[in-house]
Amino acid sequence: MEAIQRLESSVRGYVRSFPTTFATAEANWMSDVSGRRYLDFLSGAGALNYGHNHPVMREALQEYLLGGGIAHGLDMATVAKREFLETFEALVLQPRHLEYRVQFPGPTGTNAVEAALKLARKVKQRSGILHFTRGFHGMTLGAIAVTGNGEVRQSAGVELSATDAMPFDGYFADGQRPEEHLEHLLDDPFSGIDQPAAAIVETVQGEGGVHVASDRWLQALERVCRERDILLIVDDIQAGVGRTGPFFSFESAGIKPDIVTLAKSISGMGLPMALVLIRPDLDIWAAGEHTGTFRGNNHAFVTARAALETFWSSDELSRRVDLHGQHIRQRLEQIVDDADGFEAQVRGRGMFNGLDCRIPDHGSAIAGACFDRGMIIETTGEKDKVLKVLPPLISPLEDLNYGLDILAEAIQSATAC
Ligand SMILES: *Cc1c(COP(=O)(O)O)cnc(C)c1O
Repeated sequence: MEAIQRLESSVRGYVRSFPTTFATAEANWMSDVSGRRYLDFLSGAGALNYGHNHPVMREALQEYLLGGGIAHGLDMATVAKREFLETFEALVLQPRHLEYRVQFPGPTGTNAVEAALKLARKVKQRSGILHFTRGFHGMTLGAIAVTGNGEVRQSAGVELSATDAMPFDGYFADGQRPEEHLEHLLDDPFSGIDQPAAAIVETVQGEGGVHVASDRWLQALERVCRERDILLIVDDIQAGVGRTGPFFSFESAGIKPDIVTLAKSISGMGLPMALVLIRPDLDIWAAGEHTGTFRGNNHAFVTARAALETFWSSDELSRRVDLHGQHIRQRLEQIVDDADGFEAQVRGRGMFNGLDCRIPDHGSAIAGACFDRGMIIETTGEKDKVLKVLPPLISPLEDLNYGLDILAEAIQSATAC
């Protein structure tokens, strides 16, 4: 820990919230160097939906490594890539009647967002992108330009251009429908909004404070975009890969985005990997036009394929996420009811849930009290008011209950003072 404090840049973040040195992890538990165990209610910010070191993925990777499989091959054809694509088509795209070409950008989420925005602008020959209040799409300049958080925008250090923020579902307290506001601005030639190339949206806003878009609003957004020749990009980096129940978070709304970004849990084991899914007729990239050295992490292809085969050959995981998600929200409601003077709001879908404490820094005080009790949970949204409840999807029910007990205790202790 001393070396980390002395040598790692002050940009470090999570290490400050969870001040111990972790050594090993299994499923929904992490252990530090002293052997203390921590229940994981963060899942690598959504990168570990299947938990830590899943045995099937670990064995697949071990076998690949020991067999001398290609580790790095730029974007050349490899067995690992071919098999991942075949499995993704068979288990994800075909059963959902979705047709997409797959682009491998650099291996992080923000790389996928940059590629998606660049392609949308190229296709439509327009620069404008609509984004939504409280949205988060990554930390490179193009992604920051479509992110709501003022501090993140400030950190860019340059002018962020060619984007317009629009109200997300539920943004107006007075019941005004955000999609009507959007339509009005797009259709008013005096609004100052130029015809955009695309709109980019999260169905559940992860970093913006767990705000959930209704199916109705997503359908309206799709219609507004279609009617006006605007591409719809769903950033499913955090909400996708089963977090809300179905593989894609937009499935319940029945919409078909033109472009989808995936990262975080797609590799299955926390290895860096990102995808841009592109409606086939929009795939107008020239060869090598958006290149990069690490496009195609073969180790991640191996674990991603193992994850798809293990968890997406049936709807068992989706059903479990629905069930456990409902249970989590019910228990959170109960915790709020039981805590005197704690006026928190429960929001979420599937196992993507949040507890909005509504008081600045209250969420971080509770998260700190959870850490003291052996649980890892983070805050999100403005002024750390929202606790993000994001356990691995494979967490046993008894561990979910144990974590919720810790949370209830931490709330009692934090609201007492
Ligand atoms: C985490 C996240 C990103 C950025 O992904 P990185 O891998 O951190 O670059 C983009 N969009 C959403 C919705 C995210 O949650």
